[in-house]
Amino acid sequence: MGFQDSESMKCEVGVTLPYNTPVVGCEINPNVRVKCFDSLEAPPHSLIFNWFREQTNCSVHHVEVATVQCISCVTLKLPVKESYHCSTKCFSDAWKSHLARHRHAAETVSKTSNGDGQALGKLRSCGSWPAFGYTSLFGECSVVVEREGKAWVKVGSSKTYVPSMDDFGLSLRLESVAVDCSLGIPLSPVNIKVTDPVIIAPASRPRCMIQIDRLKKSRNFNFEAQFSNAGTFSVLSYNILSDLYARGGMYSYCPAWALAWEYRRHNLLQEIIGYDADILCLQEVQSDHFENFFKPELTKCGYSVVYKKKTKEVYTANQYIIDGCAIFYRL
Ligand SMILES: [Zn+2]
Ligand SMILES: [Zn+2]
Repeated sequence: MGFQDSESMKCEVGVTLPYNTPVVGCEINPNVRVKCFDSLEAPPHSLIFNWFREQTNCSVHHVEVATVQCISCVTLKLPVKESYHCSTKCFSDAWKSHLARHRHAAETVSKTSNGDGQALGKLRSCGSWPAFGYTSLFGECSVVVEREGKAWVKVGSSKTYVPSMDDFGLSLRLESVAVDCSLGIPLSPVNIKVTDPVIIAPASRPRCMIQIDRLKKSRNFNFEAQFSNAGTFSVLSYNILSDLYARGGMYSYCPAWALAWEYRRHNLLQEIIGYDADILCLQEVQSDHFENFFKPELTKCGYSVVYKKKTKEVYTANQYIIDGCAIFYRL
């Protein structure tokens, strides 16, 4: 796309990312708006998106572009810069000293994780080259562009992007532009968004559950009188925190990426399914998330559902939504 004079720039593309720290496996869905300078309505246009990943250099030969990344380094959470090599030969030549880093990291992990054996298992299989293998940082025909003196590898051309392990530790760049439908010329300057380095979400910690027999002792409940083995069923009550209310400064102690619906929904589903309850009483289920996510996902697990939403809907992202209660049950 060549240089266009300001005459043809009738519009402006506004792009907001839901959070600035992308997470491996969590879709980034930017909020995009087109605004025109001299009319209320934008002329017929299409939006073009290009996603890029920062190009990185070899950890041994610093001027060479990295083409492979050590998977073990990522698994063992070693500094990501040390995982890059310019070729498989470079990685193979450096293997002996590289392996020492893996061993040191695996020992540290096993000491701090009360010897769960996982890291030690990795260490044992770390001897020969390549231990866990490596991943190629370039596709079949990668496009590399230079922007402001820095090289970027093209990784996507849709509005949304799901960061992969190849992106871990590197910044992403989204370029968005509005283009005239018939003439194909840009109607807006290119909007540029550069993220912080992509992270891997930390493993979730198990919940600290309160044992019911402790409640029994402390509150004098007579459970035995109410409890019978016949016809028992389990009920789960869970307030999932509607995305509508997970905004602004209310949860300032929580990083923005962890509050994002794209990140939370997978964890919520995993936990809810994990309890294997007969009846699930979910509160704050947003109407669009019920239709697009919870209903199809929990139906797959054999649940039927009754859903009741509140009556006062709010207009956001081109639709009316509100939260409600969903009761899923398994017969
Ligand atoms: Zn490594
Ligand atoms: Zn190298």
